[in-house]
Amino acid sequence: MRDEILGIHHVTAIAGDPQQNVNFYAGVLGLRLVKKTVNFDDPGTYHFYYGDEQGTPGTILTFFPWRNVRRGRQGTGQAMTTSFSVPEASLGYWIERLTAHGIEYDKPVRRFDEQVLAFRDPDGLMLEVVAHSREKRDGWENGSVAGEHALLGFHTVVLCLDSHVETAKLLTETMGFRQIAEEGNQYRYAVKEGGAGMQVDIRHAPDFWQGVVAGGTVHHVAWRTESDDTQLAWRRRIAELGLSVTTVQDREYFHSIYFREPGGILFEIATDPPGFAVDEPLESLGTNLKLPPWLESSRQRIESVLPPVHLPESKSEAA
Ligand code: ZN
Repeated sequence: MRDEILGIHHVTAIAGDPQQNVNFYAGVLGLRLVKKTVNFDDPGTYHFYYGDEQGTPGTILTFFPWRNVRRGRQGTGQAMTTSFSVPEASLGYWIERLTAHGIEYDKPVRRFDEQVLAFRDPDGLMLEVVAHSREKRDGWENGSVAGEHALLGFHTVVLCLDSHVETAKLLTETMGFRQIAEEGNQYRYAVKEGGAGMQVDIRHAPDFWQGVVAGGTVHHVAWRTESDDTQLAWRRRIAELGLSVTTVQDREYFHSIYFREPGGILFEIATDPPGFAVDEPLESLGTNLKLPPWLESSRQRIESVLPPVHLPESKSEAA
């Protein structure tokens, strides 16, 4: 069996204040908070998952928010930029929306023949909105952004590397990607039919400093696989490459294995199932603190140390 990776599953980053994080991603960017849980490896801190209505793989951006977290540094050995897809006609809307919320952005540029609007979240995480006409996914209709302009999931993730050769080899010779474009020092790879959510970019930056993973940086990028069986096959294949890969971890909403790619970026391969409706109904995703069964007995203690957070009012903002 020679499966391919199906695309980007999720991106996990580190944030500071949890309420500020919710205000930005659910409020300004209009994503749905699809799960409010804790960091299973550190249950005294939150783990927030944002995505489309269901938290479909390929739309999920997750955060470990730590108040007073030390600020990281963007650089090599990091997934530096996370890009979201929007319809081609929505670029103006997003410029106005960011302006209305006092968020600085760079003048839009054309890259790989698409319009790219770059900005940062309140912790400095580098984000982009990419406007193009090839998107097939629908946006979430009930968020703080009108459905026609809603973020449609990931477009790409930019891996910043001081040498791209070994990582490119892993992507193309093992993970099923192919190089589809090159512009300046940036290379684009696609898997499956390609397009938004099924691509990844490498930025070759040999003279850039090394990144420091902390607040405002990406912790890891997860890739989609369809089942527990295909995940085990991936685990064997990665181990055969001589890379150190973890055992399967139960993340409640998917199952995960982790390894560091040759450029130093933490990769995860995560299963599409079971998804976020496994422990609460679709209509109320993200509204209550959910804990995995093995932490339920500690709920009182966990809730007492987590700062309260509330969702911004939906549809309340005219911008
Ligand atoms: Zn993950």
